[in-house]
Amino acid sequence: MHTKDSPAPAIDYSRVFNQAIDRLHAEGRYRVFIDVLRNKGAYPNARCFAGHNGPKPIVVWCSNDYLAMGQHPDVIAAMEEALHDVGAGSGGTRNIGGNTHYHIELEHELAELHGKQGALLFTSGYVSNEATLSTLARLMPGCIVYSDELNHASMIAGIRNSGCEKRVFRHNDLAHLEELLAADDPGAPKLIAFESVYSMDADIAPIAAICDLADKYNALTYLDEVHAVGMYGARGGGISERDAVADRITIIEGTLGKAFGVMGGYIAADQVIIDVIRSYAPGFIFTTSLSPVLVAGALASVKHLKASTAERDGQQAAAATLKALMAEAGLPVLPSTTHIVPLMVGDPVKAKKISDVLLAEYGVYVQPINYPTVPRGTERLRFTPGPAHDEAMMRELVDALVEIWGRLELRLAA
Ligand code: PMP
Repeated sequence: MHTKDSPAPAIDYSRVFNQAIDRLHAEGRYRVFIDVLRNKGAYPNARCFAGHNGPKPIVVWCSNDYLAMGQHPDVIAAMEEALHDVGAGSGGTRNIGGNTHYHIELEHELAELHGKQGALLFTSGYVSNEATLSTLARLMPGCIVYSDELNHASMIAGIRNSGCEKRVFRHNDLAHLEELLAADDPGAPKLIAFESVYSMDADIAPIAAICDLADKYNALTYLDEVHAVGMYGARGGGISERDAVADRITIIEGTLGKAFGVMGGYIAADQVIIDVIRSYAPGFIFTTSLSPVLVAGALASVKHLKASTAERDGQQAAAATLKALMAEAGLPVLPSTTHIVPLMVGDPVKAKKISDVLLAEYGVYVQPINYPTVPRGTERLRFTPGPAHDEAMMRELVDALVEIWGRLELRLAA
């Protein structure tokens, strides 16, 4: 037996970690990062290092910089100017040294975009969800959170960390949501948490109908618009702007890292909610604020996409063309009404194989999407064409996919 004076028994830590990695290999879920070299202005063309062969040309098909705003001249100029004017870092947390005029201005811009009294920046969309949901639900004793089953991991983490009761409703299923709401104490504080565009199934929530249920059962609403801000609505305010329901949502959450092309996250809501999250959320309080350079870039991007629809219109047209070409070729593309193009494979090993062959033989870069990002058995490739993917690129991609589908004896529709 181990005593105070005898040495502690050896624990083989690396064995434990190696076993964890081996499990991923065995299930075909081990992730490999591709070493991509980008060139400003060349997107979706890029180069990558594969093995020991020097960089080879690729076409990127899986970026969430949906509109290539990360390479937009206005965004780059704003970032260069901020870097030149104020330097690289923010210098601290918002409460201490890290509050700059750029942060304040972007928060005003985002509040205005969503028609809310205020907005609050976080270092990522993930952090916005975790920090806000965990804090909000914690501050309402007895709160019950109703969460769509396909909600993002960051929302799930926030709800879990709040310690409150959680009910999971079937994806976009209003009847199930109502059944759960009706079964609970009418006097309990309630929060319905959901997304507008679900990024893996590429479908859209019935926001107005969820708001009707929220009104009926006196619940607050929390809407993750991460995949929709910049992409939908006349000014890029997301699906809540497109459907004219933003005023019915208690908290709209978004990212600056996808359509806006930079980095960071935010919420927009009534001032009292902004104030309470600002004052109580550890994920906001105890971390260095975003670099003013990033904030300046995001500000330029938000302003540009408020005024210009060319990028999102071009992106929608590209997505429609790609979906049509895939369907015509008999490939199992999910019929979606959004800008995302999911191609179903249903097997992690095959999804990885297709991705590997596409990269090695066709210079096509698209990562496989596996569990836990999507449920097991629904593994897929997720294509995100941008306004600069042209039809010739799409035809080459579809021809390559048809060839690989045949090689792997996967089924094509007649
Ligand atoms: N919400 C959803 C629905 C997401 O898909 C993601 C990122 N994939 C996030 C939040 C997190 O956003 P960010 O990348 O800015 O951390």
